Amino acid sequence: MKKKAVYPGSFDPITLGHIDIITRMSKIFDELVVLIAQSSQKHSLFTPLERKKLIEETFKHLPTVKVDIHEGLTVDYVRQNQATTIIRGLRVVVDFEYEMTMASMNRKIAPEIETMLVFASPEYYYISSRAVKEVAQFNGPLDGLVPDHVKQPLLDKLHQKKP
Ligand code: ADP
Repeated sequence: MKKKAVYPGSFDPITLGHIDIITRMSKIFDELVVLIAQSSQKHSLFTPLERKKLIEETFKHLPTVKVDIHEGLTVDYVRQNQATTIIRGLRVVVDFEYEMTMASMNRKIAPEIETMLVFASPEYYYISSRAVKEVAQFNGPLDGLVPDHVKQPLLDKLHQKKP
């Protein structure tokens, strides 16, 4: 049976930290779905469709990596799409409590689905979409934080938003 995993998150926008996790996990799973969680509670810079296009561009060379958008429980998506595993990344200690709580809740409501927590690579552990947006807001260098094709859309978005 094909081993299929789902990597859910906001990806607003995708960073080199996310890319590292996806690339490493794509070697373990036959198919990996990067799942953009469409949340009405979280304010996002890019629309889900814009985020999807940026991720698809990043992984156009890797056909086993798919991108999808979902509103609702991740476990429902995992079940509906015959996946078995949820992947999340762990950077610093503060991630741990949040990720463990979420993994435990998911285990409670969907015990057949396993959550895999993957340590960030040392060179990327400090990268978050939020920090990247802060750097971009003030025109700081984005090299080594996001892929090249994300830089301009990010700057355009942030400057559009200025009054
Ligand atoms: P969310 O809003 O759900 O936390 P994110 O897009 O910020 O979504 O992150 C998705 C997942 O990727 C989370 O599990 C997060 O911990 C992980 N992640 C984010 N940045 C990195 C990074 N630099 N290295 C490893 N994992 C990361």
